[in-house]
Amino acid sequence: MARFIFITGGVVSSLGKGLASAALGALLQARGYSVRLRKLDPYLNVDPGTMSPFEHGEVFVTDDGAETDLDLGHYERFTGVPARKTDSVSSGRIYSDVLEKERRGDYLGKTIQVVPHVTNQIKDFISIGEDEVDFMLCEIGGTVGDIEGLPFFEAIRQFAHDKPQGQCIFMHLTLLPYLAASGELKTKPTQHSVKELQSIGIAPDILVCRSEQPIPEKEREKIALFCNVRKQCVVAAYDLKSIYEAPLAYHEQGLDQAVLDAFGISPAPAPKLEVWHDVYDRIHNPEGQVKVAIVGKYTQLEDAYKSIAEALTHGGMANRVKVKIEWVDAELFDNDDATPYLEGFHAILVPGGFGERGTEGKIKAAKFAREKKIPYLGICLGMQMAVIEAARNVAGLEKAGSEEFDHEAGKKRFEPVVYHLKEWVQGNHMVARKADDDKGGTMRLGAYDATLIEGSKVAEVYGSTSIEERHRHRYEVDIKYRDMLEASGLKFSGMSPDGKLPEIVEWEGHPWFIGVQFHPELKSKPFAPHPLFADFVRAAVDTSRLV
Ligand code: GLN
Repeated sequence: MARFIFITGGVVSSLGKGLASAALGALLQARGYSVRLRKLDPYLNVDPGTMSPFEHGEVFVTDDGAETDLDLGHYERFTGVPARKTDSVSSGRIYSDVLEKERRGDYLGKTIQVVPHVTNQIKDFISIGEDEVDFMLCEIGGTVGDIEGLPFFEAIRQFAHDKPQGQCIFMHLTLLPYLAASGELKTKPTQHSVKELQSIGIAPDILVCRSEQPIPEKEREKIALFCNVRKQCVVAAYDLKSIYEAPLAYHEQGLDQAVLDAFGISPAPAPKLEVWHDVYDRIHNPEGQVKVAIVGKYTQLEDAYKSIAEALTHGGMANRVKVKIEWVDAELFDNDDATPYLEGFHAILVPGGFGERGTEGKIKAAKFAREKKIPYLGICLGMQMAVIEAARNVAGLEKAGSEEFDHEAGKKRFEPVVYHLKEWVQGNHMVARKADDDKGGTMRLGAYDATLIEGSKVAEVYGSTSIEERHRHRYEVDIKYRDMLEASGLKFSGMSPDGKLPEIVEWEGHPWFIGVQFHPELKSKPFAPHPLFADFVRAAVDTSRLV
């Protein structure tokens, strides 16, 4: 039966709870344990699928087709454990499940209340698959004291109470602000945050304290005494150059040892950290640098393309180079020449996106990369834009467009090279969607197989002709245009197994121009860079040698 670690945060948000959880997961794995990480989010959206990337960052998609919080991406990147639908839940999902049960009469006419009905629903969620792993790490989103977080805090308190003693521990992240004027680290906010937790019945076993300055022994003792934890359970978390240093840094500060001690596991197996030492070495000792442009729409908030940025970093690690990413807003050259914005980059990546804004700029970016022979990776919308560019500028279909934007009244440009997909095959069954279905959950989501053409660039890059990648889109390149586009040189080098849906396109005779309908970035790890990203960065290194 699993042991449970509940991770909460206090004082301020954005302390890196997700990263601390992911790093702890990696450290427990390094000691030979199996882990699963979960995120419980107090917001009322049913899932993050319809939340704006401007506000909430990227939507992370799991193999089984859940649209989840980006923290699940961190979990996967650090542990390599594929996340599932049942690893992410929000208040909205919990309430909607409770209300559905109420409507169905499952509660037999009882009065439905936060305690016990909502809290029981949360507890049931936490225990899904508890027999499968040694440790279950559950992160509670938000900060202690938030109104909407209360049912979650009450649920984890009860959960630990229901389990035999010693099976659950609580880890709390706080901030030690540094007052430059007095030259001191202040512990009071941490004390207050722990008090707040204690007032709802939770006594943390471990405190992880974010700090810009080294924490003096005296302050550590003070925190331990006033917060009622052992001194070795006050763990420092200092700022890092790269997030991938976190497992080694937390190990040095004794986090994994403190956790194992808190569970009374002794002697604990020694950790095997070679993988993380290698990752550290690759980040800290690059042998060169390449400049990659990400031409997108959500460029003000880097979290909107979190997994892409991380996958590029992994690609850099595979080639022992630093990847310098620059965010280029495609809208800047929607009606303008792209050259001044894109000159000087060693590679161009056009990521996924929704809606028309910036798409003409993205089409120009694809044209620029094709003509100047700059490596281009188009992901999802980035592939669709590359296909429209090829259709308009090479195949002679001047009016080529996508049903995603060109259906609006009055638009006459329009040869629907990219069309609204309403039916497709998943495994052995058909999936159908109506145009007026709810916005949430109408997409082709999750892992699908693709078959690659023997001898194509992608087959060489993957070293295989059959792959599985994650999807998240409503629109699709129309196979009708295949012959015409292939005659122009744009090869359809990857298809769905039934041969109906184009999954990958590549330009013949171009050093590196690949568009993929799926999201390879979601599966890249620092210790196992995704082959497309590793080879894309390799091609960027080649370009950098030419200039
Ligand atoms: N908007 C496009 C579609 O729905 C692309 C989606 C994406 O890039 N994830 O097909």
